[in-house]
Amino acid sequence: MRPAPELRVEIVSDEEMAIIEAALAAAASATARPLLSAAASATARPLLSAAARGAATISCAAYTTAGDIEDSPPSQRRSLLSRFRERRALAVTDITATEWCDKQMQFVLEHGKPERTEAMKAGSERHSQLEEEVIERVDVAIRSAEESWAVKFMNFIVGTNQLLCNGMTRELPVIGVVEGSWMVGIIDEIQMPVDDVSSHPILVDTKTRFKPTIPSEAQKRNGRLQLMCYKYLWDSSVGEKFPAEKFFSYFDLDPNYLLSDDVKLYISSLGFNAKNFGDVLKYYKIACHTLSRSQEQLTLRYELQADHSLLEEYKFSYDDWWFKDQIQEALSFWLGAREPKFVTEEEWWKCKFCKFAPNCPKIASISRC
Ligand code: SF4
Repeated sequence: MRPAPELRVEIVSDEEMAIIEAALAAAASATARPLLSAAASATARPLLSAAARGAATISCAAYTTAGDIEDSPPSQRRSLLSRFRERRALAVTDITATEWCDKQMQFVLEHGKPERTEAMKAGSERHSQLEEEVIERVDVAIRSAEESWAVKFMNFIVGTNQLLCNGMTRELPVIGVVEGSWMVGIIDEIQMPVDDVSSHPILVDTKTRFKPTIPSEAQKRNGRLQLMCYKYLWDSSVGEKFPAEKFFSYFDLDPNYLLSDDVKLYISSLGFNAKNFGDVLKYYKIACHTLSRSQEQLTLRYELQADHSLLEEYKFSYDDWWFKDQIQEALSFWLGAREPKFVTEEEWWKCKFCKFAPNCPKIASISRC
């Protein structure tokens, strides 16, 4: 028998950086509002269109002409949360991008995301392929924030039906409150166990890699945090009472909002009957009660972009203490309780791949030494 080829660990690769840049890009494009269209599947599985999600982007070129972020003391500046996510939830990608480098996250928020690389585009295409294996998109006109949320909740309901009936679903939107802050995410893949011993779903995230190398510890750590965020959001969705009043109040939504004919038609095509936004939320709460908490073990899959072969399947356990610590650290940055940190000395290599390095005070201080 031929021995399995040994995989080389690479400190960082183009693709590795692309994943982080993708997270940063997602964080920046999350500023796009309003959402304009939605999509659905043969198993009646709608999804907000990626095109609509990425509709508003900011040119990275703007960065070179703006140099004022260090000018005023932190006490006189509004927090990044209130400046960039007011009445909106933090995305899981906001948290993972912050974990990668606070300062880079701040640069992205204030000056725009870096341009997408070829590796990033290839990674997005692979995720679209995986999504299309289980989801067919349809367009639905959305006229308000209430309708946008209604479609997301319907996506969750139909996706979890698909999970229970077919044993697997992908691109499932989740929402919840983590350490006092609203957070949203889209779970890559959820599987039901095949052994009949457990009824707890398995959360999986797939990363594509340009080269046949396994990821560095920094990237794995970032992936662990991402999956732990999803687990926390899933488990709180299915295990806790949804804080509807807080939700309506924080996002400034009207539960009595009458849905448009287009959205009502779309919801009825999925087998539901909703007149207003509150009706959809009732269906969502019922769906949550039929589900169980996810497994403690989480799975990160690394596959090669060229042929989709599996490079590594990395399993690890949810660690509540570590997770909460990471979230509190990230939130203290978003809430303005502390200055943004730079990468640690051990991870200075990240700066070599950072588009903001020429304007980063950390690089300037290293050069002066
Ligand atoms: S240059 Fe380094 S420390 Fe500065 S923002 Fe980029 S990654 Fe962070």
